[in-house]
Amino acid sequence: MVTTTNTYQTTRSHELFERAKTLMPGGVSSPVRAFKSVGADPVFIARAQGAYLWDVDGNRYIDYIGTWGPAIVGHAHPEVQQALISAIPNGTSFGAPSCQENVLAQMVIDAVPSIEMVRFVNSGTEACMSAIRLARAYTGREKLIKFSGCYHGHGDLFLVQAGSGVATLGLPDSPGVPSAVTAHTLTVPYNDLPALNAMLAQYPDSIAAVILEPVVGNAGCILPQPGFLAGVRELTHQYGALLIFDEVMTGFRLAYGGAQERFGMDPDLTCLGKIIGGGLPVGAYGGKQAIMEMVAPAGPVYQAGTLSGNPLAMTAGIKTLELLQKPGTYAYLDQITAQLTEGLLDVARATGHTICANQVGAMTSIFFCAGPVTSYETAKASDREKFGRFHRGMMAEGVYLAPSQFEAWFLSTAHTAADIDQTLQAARRVLSQIPQ
Ligand SMILES: *Cc1c(COP(=O)(O)O)cnc(C)c1O
Repeated sequence: MVTTTNTYQTTRSHELFERAKTLMPGGVSSPVRAFKSVGADPVFIARAQGAYLWDVDGNRYIDYIGTWGPAIVGHAHPEVQQALISAIPNGTSFGAPSCQENVLAQMVIDAVPSIEMVRFVNSGTEACMSAIRLARAYTGREKLIKFSGCYHGHGDLFLVQAGSGVATLGLPDSPGVPSAVTAHTLTVPYNDLPALNAMLAQYPDSIAAVILEPVVGNAGCILPQPGFLAGVRELTHQYGALLIFDEVMTGFRLAYGGAQERFGMDPDLTCLGKIIGGGLPVGAYGGKQAIMEMVAPAGPVYQAGTLSGNPLAMTAGIKTLELLQKPGTYAYLDQITAQLTEGLLDVARATGHTICANQVGAMTSIFFCAGPVTSYETAKASDREKFGRFHRGMMAEGVYLAPSQFEAWFLSTAHTAADIDQTLQAARRVLSQIPQ
């Protein structure tokens, strides 16, 4: 099948985006959707099904964003849809306990090795903010250590610029965030155990928690190097700090039990989101019972939510997790994602481009540099201008990629070998048009 780029029209999307910009800041409800970093305008999506998106101009795309992770069984899966349709007549929100919460809580506890108790919230941002509050209460300490390039939502305490000098000072990287709030947030480079050790040694009795993405998805896909996660676990034990795995992206993606199952790790607290809501707004945090029982009303740490544990979100989450339990799910995701990643490396070689790739399970990224990319600092070596050209070319070919060099790509069980083949053929055409 030959896709001709000169028929690619986005007139209606363009009109809608112009209008949206007068109604909402930047025309979007979340910044990365505006496609600014790839020098393009976004398309407006009319419909999503399986591995595909259709925009308002009728273009179809093979989707490698999957609504930033949740669509791991494909968009609008018929069984998820049916579960939601059956749930709607019972009401969309109760503001009271419901049995669906018990079901999903039990599923999360059974799945994620370190979680003994869980609290549902409405987003990954809330999960991370709440986990830090809890860690501070539990340890009676105030400081936290994060890693540059890791994203933990838009809570004030996480908006700290990564970068050597500024890092230790904990200066906020968004106006509107008081420096008093971020003064307790310390940043070290990912995959750098000596730097973490030095930071802990500098504040031996003040670090409440070390939080990280066990596989980074928010600086492009970056893998923990062998021994890194185990080293972080050892150091946090040594200094009496809690270890928080932010598995909002990796939970139920890298394995049914998340990165901690895949890498055999035992964090104290875990943040979840994305997949566990099956495409509806959900987050969760959980961990050891002795820590979780400090959360109100069992304990004194306040945290609440009008729509938390929402019955529709629980329903979509339950059905999505049930679908993921089918034997062979994760082997298939690994295989199809490896096929895409290795294919892209081949295509780049054939067209004379230097790229490197990081992949684990159904998460992957290519970087336009020789690599290896092991941190946000090394990811910045990528040729972002070239990535922008690649992205725009792939859109015109009907392939919808994350609109930034610093975002991972996500595959789903709905992606087929034929989708990967089409994607690779498109990549070959696009890369051969881009000067090396
Ligand atoms: C997406 C994400 C968040 C934030 O979740 P929201 O639901 O967007 O608030 C936090 N941490 C990680 C690792 C994420 O990928």
